[in-house]
Formats: sequence, C-alpha cells, structure tokens
Amino acid sequence: MSRRAAKLGLAVALGIGLGFGRIGQAVWAGELSATDEAQVERLVGAEVKIPLALGSGEEFIPENPNGTNTASTGTAQGHVLDGEKVIFYRTETWGEIVADFEEFKSRVSGTLEDERGWKRAGLRFVEVEKNPDVLIILSDAARLDATSGCSGDLSCTTWDNEVIINDLRWREGTEASRAAGMETRDYQHMVVNHEVGHWLGHYAHETSCPNGGPAPIMLQQSTGLRGCESFNAWPLESELWTLR
Ligand SMILES: [Zn+2]
Repeated sequence: MSRRAAKLGLAVALGIGLGFGRIGQAVWAGELSATDEAQVERLVGAEVKIPLALGSGEEFIPENPNGTNTASTGTAQGHVLDGEKVIFYRTETWGEIVADFEEFKSRVSGTLEDERGWKRAGLRFVEVEKNPDVLIILSDAARLDATSGCSGDLSCTTWDNEVIINDLRWREGTEASRAAGMETRDYQHMVVNHEVGHWLGHYAHETSCPNGGPAPIMLQQSTGLRGCESFNAWPLESELWTLR
C-alpha cells in the first residue's frame, strides 16, 4: 500500500478530515446585538478564511483526499468578536431525514453554546446562513456511505468543512451507547461535540483512560468505552484546545 493510500485508509478508519474554504451564499440569520451583527456582516461578507494550524506534536495529519489545500503550518486567526474566537456554522440536511430538523438545530446550538462544551476552550459558535466556516449536517446513512472517507454506520467530519451527523444514529444512538444506558439526548450532545472536536483540530482519537474516569470526548464512544468508567458527552479539561 502506498503512503498516500495508507493515509487515506487511516482517514477512512477514523472517519475524519479537515480543510479550508468558504461555503454558502445566503443571508445572515443569527441573533446578536446590533454591534455584533454589524461586525458579523462585515466578517461573513468578506472572504475570511481560518487558516489551519498544526502543532508539531500531531501524530496523525490526514491527507486531503481532494488533493488540494493540503495541511500546512500557520497561526489560527479566526474571527474575533468581543475578544472571543467566533466560529460561524450553518445547519442543513442531506437526503431523506426522519429526525425533526428543528429539534436538531436546537440541540446543535444548545450543545455548542453549553457551558460544559467547547465554549470552555474560548470559542463562540454563531449560526449563520452566509459563508459559514463549517457546515453541521443531518444526513441520511446512504448519503454518508457515498461520502468519501465516511461510513453509513457512523457520523463523520470531512476535508470540506462538513460535520455530518448520521440521522439514524441521531435518533437511536449506537449499540454501545444503548447498552451503557446512555440517554439519546446525551448521545446527541456527545456526537456533536466529538465531530466538531475533529473539525477543531482533534484529528486522532483518544484510545484509553489511563487514569480511569469518564471517557474523553475524542474517544470513539460510539463503539465502546475502552476501559473508561463512563460515557461522557463533553470535552474533558485536558481536551480544551483548538487549532482553529
Ligand atoms: Zn471520531
């Protein structure tokens, strides 16, 4: 297997990716103060990119399967409002969706704004319709199966700034989460935080709990706990970093 093929294989196995690029062409639809809104309009109306910064310690840097925008080093700048780093996201659906999309939107925004979440890493997530940094998509499994690097079994994050949540898993969780008695609502918090974590720069999965305790959010809890004491829907203190 070539090095490229090996890397792609790993990317497929992990179901993750990263990338650059602006997406979307619509109208700002957030709820902010008038001052914030003016700043946001200025930001999303411009061709602002969040450069990708990779720490030298990364053990795994997936190769962009699209062959463009390969990983490079740099300083993550992002958008800043009132001293906070701001991530613009847009929610949408792919394919035939069974779950209630309004509930999905509400659960996603609730998760991203929750005091237990990535907000603790100094990030503020703002939903927009125009020029998001990342799409958060509720997708049918068939569409995930057809997406490079993803599988219909799980959710996935791609090189194209797509956090794709599997509609079936969203509604039912996984065998492992159900067996552990994880509530669907907690599974939903977990899968949003986990996939967004990949997009934020957590490319590799955590694989164990050396000190016991709850599972790291970047451990693949959808498939099992790997010795951790409990399921956990939120990033641990040690995971509160981002390359965005
Ligand atoms: Zn993952």
